[in-house]
Amino acid sequence: MVSRPPTFCPDCGRSLESTTIEDRDRMRCPRCEAIVWHNPVPCAGVAVVDRSGPAPAVLCVERGVPPGVGEWTIPGGHMETGEEPPEAAARELREETGVTVDPADLEILAASAMPPRAGKHVVTVHYVADCADADGEPVAGSDATDARFWTPAAFDASEETFRPVHEERFREAAAALE
Ligand SMILES: [Zn+2]
Repeated sequence: MVSRPPTFCPDCGRSLESTTIEDRDRMRCPRCEAIVWHNPVPCAGVAVVDRSGPAPAVLCVERGVPPGVGEWTIPGGHMETGEEPPEAAARELREETGVTVDPADLEILAASAMPPRAGKHVVTVHYVADCADADGEPVAGSDATDARFWTPAAFDASEETFRPVHEERFREAAAALE
């Protein structure tokens, strides 16, 4: 399985040829006679919500690596093999913001397909966690140039942009845990 549309066979290096299987275009190696599957990549993320202020605020990160440098997102990323989704979400949160949370304290918010970028399709399981269950002050870590809490109103009044779909989860998370 590959994350972007394949051109060459990952085993023997031959150019792949297209074929149709059950009405879907697939790429096949003429030598290995194997299909090189192109499937969505599973990701996990968590929105930590601070409800101690006048309006709920959500911990977000500003992306420092392509694609989408400068866009704000909910902390998250690729699942590692053998990881449960809440473990992956908690690990990505720690790596990107320094904030730690027990995977057992995460509640599922949504699972969504993200708009593909450069042919890469991602499905993200988004969780929500209460800031009261989290430890640490946000510090931008790997892949992030900033990490901070935003209320939807403060974000709307800023010049910043949010990544599509993540923005919906951001607003849902701010309204969650009521
Ligand atoms: Zn091959």
